Amino acid sequence: MSGPRIVVLAGGVGAARFLQGVLSLVAHTDVTVIGNVGDDVVFGGLHVSPDLDTVLYTLTDAIDEERGWGVRDDTSRALERSRALGFDPWFWLGDLDIGLHLARTAWLAEGSTLSDVTSRFAQAMGLRARLIPCTDDRLRTVIQTMDGEIDFQEYFVKRGHRDEVHGVRFDGAAGTSPAPGVLEALQGAAAILLAPSNPLISIAPILAVPGIREALEQRVVRCVAVSPIVAGAALRGPAADMLRSLGHDVSPLGVVDLYAGLIDAVVIDDADAQLAAAIEARGVSVVVADTIMRSAEARRNLAHAALQAAGIAERT
Ligand code: GDP
Ligand code: CA
Repeated sequence: MSGPRIVVLAGGVGAARFLQGVLSLVAHTDVTVIGNVGDDVVFGGLHVSPDLDTVLYTLTDAIDEERGWGVRDDTSRALERSRALGFDPWFWLGDLDIGLHLARTAWLAEGSTLSDVTSRFAQAMGLRARLIPCTDDRLRTVIQTMDGEIDFQEYFVKRGHRDEVHGVRFDGAAGTSPAPGVLEALQGAAAILLAPSNPLISIAPILAVPGIREALEQRVVRCVAVSPIVAGAALRGPAADMLRSLGHDVSPLGVVDLYAGLIDAVVIDDADAQLAAAIEARGVSVVVADTIMRSAEARRNLAHAALQAAGIAERT
């Protein structure tokens, strides 16, 4: 028996934890996750999709919970060997992780699409929610800094996201199309959720795929965002610094403005309750909740708040 279909636009860690909450409340097969591929990188010849993998590992209970990414108890023998040979493994990949990237890279080289590969992984690893990359085409986030344009993972991992960000560009986006099932999922959804992910580098690349933003603008169901910014800071990563350097408010208000025309409601943290009136003045309704996803219970409560704001009554 299936219930209302829920579509979640997702980045990496924040999204994956939120999705754990969603899946604790609704049937897994009713949930479609549209994932970011702007972070993808070819490292040492291997195609790595960090955000898709974080969602996959988290939802199949394989994740390294402490770090938020990678496989729990993974080893790094392959990278140690590469280092001993004189290679600089600046992008960390565990041994088990490398196995997955090998399979992905080989299947892509044989002509499979990224969404085919992702669903093969999902099937093999027991993920029952549907995980679709936003596009099967090449789309890469590029960061503009004082030193010029740099690839996303070079900015994020190699340079430790210390550069001041002057702009963000999604290379190739104009020529991409949504992966099979993406628009159908959005059009058939009973509710759409924007996970607590970085709006500028996790959600924006998804919206940059021609057709996806339009599908959100033309939605006939509620779309609810969860703010990744709490009390003027990001819980992890460079979201706050990026918002600031790009001239946005470092608050849920700044997030709401970035999502103008796309959302009907936003879930903000208790710590930001005083912003509710200003947000509602923009025509977006506000739900105030504890949005810090420390425990399974906290993830579930946050998902409950978002689903309620979306008008979805859970079945459990
Ligand atoms: P990643 O950068 O690819 O790992 O993925 P995301 O963009 O999904 O995650 C980073 C964002 O998630 C940051 O902006 C964080 O502030 C946000 N985030 C992480 N954990 C939490 C949390 O517990 N609550 C909320 N509200 N946001 C979170
Ligand atoms: Ca990411």
